[in-house]
Amino acid sequence: MLDAIGAEAAPFTVEELCAAVPGVGRATVFRTVRLLQELDVVCRLPLEDGSVRYQLSAGDHHHHLICSNCGRVSEFNDPALDRLIQENAHDAGFRLDGHSLELYGRCADCAPHPQAPSPPAAERGRRA
Ligand SMILES: [Zn+2]
Ligand SMILES: [Zn+2]
Ligand SMILES: [Zn+2]
Repeated sequence: MLDAIGAEAAPFTVEELCAAVPGVGRATVFRTVRLLQELDVVCRLPLEDGSVRYQLSAGDHHHHLICSNCGRVSEFNDPALDRLIQENAHDAGFRLDGHSLELYGRCADCAPHPQAPSPPAAERGRRA
């Protein structure tokens, strides 16, 4: 089954994985994916439409940028953000076991016009 997961170039669904390993029972596929997820071998990608896909993980804890146009998934890691999440949980008296973070939008290739930051108003005033 690991071969099948490694062969998937794009994020896959458990259904697709089941189809790729016909000899393996559905329950076993689900259990294996869950185990691999706990081991940080694959990561879980909840999509905006409510479906869930998986892909091979970079290994360490990270967050996802998911393009809603082409489906590309980029990974990023920000220790400062993680600290902030932990602080928020702590302040709420919440015992945090883990978190996942998905950002939805358009990737650099799909965003039609990357927004250039407009100059501050004071700057414009001085030039006029
Ligand atoms: Zn990931
Ligand atoms: Zn895209
Ligand atoms: Zn994090």
